[in-house]
Amino acid sequence: MGTSGNTRVKWQSFVAAFLLIFAAAALRIWPLKSLGSTLTWLTFYPTVMVAAIYGGLAAGLFATGLACLTVIFSWSLIVSEPFIRIPADWLGVAVFVFTGTMISGVSEAMRRANMRAKRAQEQAEAANLAKSVFLANMSHELRTPLNAILGFAGILRNDAGISGEQRKTLAIIHRSGEHLLSLINDVLDMAKVEAGRISVENAPFDLGEMVRDITGLMHGRAEEKNLQLVLDQSSDFPLFVQADDTKLRQALINLVGNAIKYTERGTVTLRLGSRPMDRPGRLLLIVEVEDTGIGIAAGDRERIFDPFVQVDRRTVRKGTGLGLAISRKNVETMGGRISVDSTLGKGSIFRVEVPVDRIDDLKKDAIRIDPGRIVGLAPGQPGYRLLIVEDQEENWLLLKRMLEDAGFQVRVAGDGAEGIEVFRTWRPHFIWMDVRMPVMDGLEATRRIRAIEGGRDVKIVALTASVFKEERDNVLAAGMDDFIRKPYRPEEIFDCLTRHLGVRLLHEESTAAGDTEPAGALGPDTFTGLPEGLRGELADALVSLDAPRIAGTVIRVSERNPALGAVLARHVEQLNYTEILRSLRTGGITPYEESR
Ligand code: ADP
Repeated sequence: MGTSGNTRVKWQSFVAAFLLIFAAAALRIWPLKSLGSTLTWLTFYPTVMVAAIYGGLAAGLFATGLACLTVIFSWSLIVSEPFIRIPADWLGVAVFVFTGTMISGVSEAMRRANMRAKRAQEQAEAANLAKSVFLANMSHELRTPLNAILGFAGILRNDAGISGEQRKTLAIIHRSGEHLLSLINDVLDMAKVEAGRISVENAPFDLGEMVRDITGLMHGRAEEKNLQLVLDQSSDFPLFVQADDTKLRQALINLVGNAIKYTERGTVTLRLGSRPMDRPGRLLLIVEVEDTGIGIAAGDRERIFDPFVQVDRRTVRKGTGLGLAISRKNVETMGGRISVDSTLGKGSIFRVEVPVDRIDDLKKDAIRIDPGRIVGLAPGQPGYRLLIVEDQEENWLLLKRMLEDAGFQVRVAGDGAEGIEVFRTWRPHFIWMDVRMPVMDGLEATRRIRAIEGGRDVKIVALTASVFKEERDNVLAAGMDDFIRKPYRPEEIFDCLTRHLGVRLLHEESTAAGDTEPAGALGPDTFTGLPEGLRGELADALVSLDAPRIAGTVIRVSERNPALGAVLARHVEQLNYTEILRSLRTGGITPYEESR
């Protein structure tokens, strides 16, 4: 295609050169006839130049030659007198040929340089795309075995028969796996950013829950380093909003994580506020993460947002240097901005501002409190038959074990074709469908099952390690009901079954299982001695994230029961809100306040 494009340009450029010379000669007939033979070459220089710039060396030389021939042989037809009258006129021709050749040569050099630059740019873009696709594929390959590592470590950790020492070892395996996963996710996110494949997905969500989640996740890390993690919330911070929660969560986790990572003593403060925007219901969410850590030099404050840049030279830190680059991209994609203010040696303040829509009509039912580990199916339900279609043994083994432990009947098929067979003979209620498989992939198998009689009623959910939106769209287009991303957490699997089959599950009553020593364990009976009003108020205060209000309620609890007050104060200090809420919930209390 490239050559035919080039030849086309060439021939067109000769025609153009011919027309240009013809036009220049025509100008001399009219309106420049009165000039006679004076300033002849001045008429032809511009035409040669245009021809050379447009068509390069050949077209420039062609125009030059044609102009000379016209002048030498046809001049008398144009101005009724010959051009060459004295020998000096030959000098004029020679100078014209010389400059015409120079102009054509320089134009050609420029054209070539331009083409080379364009080709280099195209090659660089193609290489970049290939790299991004490679990274995406590789992360996909890494996520699949990691799913098995995390899943089995989780299952073993919950096994009542293991010793405390083994539990600790498993916790380390689990934590390391989680860390590896977050690194892989970073690389994958960056690949998505570079391949230009990120888009905004807005949905209503519980911002309060997100903040509780993040502080819950981070307080352990802060405690390990003896840092104080403080939540500082202004009263106008909205609890329910519509925005892209995944992107916001990534940015906040990265900022709080960094603040803890780069601070040796003192405090990390998560400050939450908002400001009204141009139209009603639209808010600018302002989240600041302040630390008392090593700080960032003025010259580095912009650089740290570039991929792979790590500026702390004193110690080798964990991390990839991608976190902030992704955070900035995520926040900007949401229409917001991220900035930093810092004093070297004193600390930094990272500030995220994103526009969100406030939602007022989500009521208390929407307040989700992580209900704790699933122990099995509630009695009085039909025997659910679940089919797993998955080729990789470590993956189906994990899922099968999880589902069987919870009390489901499970069968496994190793590829799509086998899946269709098992569907025909066993008629499962629900199918977990891997997407990439040998023999027949999950998309094709789903299409065929949907075409079988009764195949429209079975719920089919994809298990995919791909995070590209296109793959998810393909999955839904093939007729699946939903998808879960690998690696998944057990709750996601069970939530999905609840959503599509209406399955009812039993949750673990106590919440004592954990990696760190509990701060005075919270159980289902912890709060039963308190009056219901006070328990409800405590739940509301926690959900509102309003620190003074929480402190006030803790004081009132202490007045009634100093021991409980002390335990509660410790959990509050660690921002362990979810644990307290869970304990209140298992004791029969849910927050009753209308959401703000
Ligand atoms: P990573 O933390 O994986 O190295 P990031 O992109 O999140 O990557 O951060 C880039 C760099 O910015 C870090 O390596 C660190 O040098 C600097 N940095 C980020 N946050 C802070 C902070 N709160 N205090 C001091 N330096 C920071």
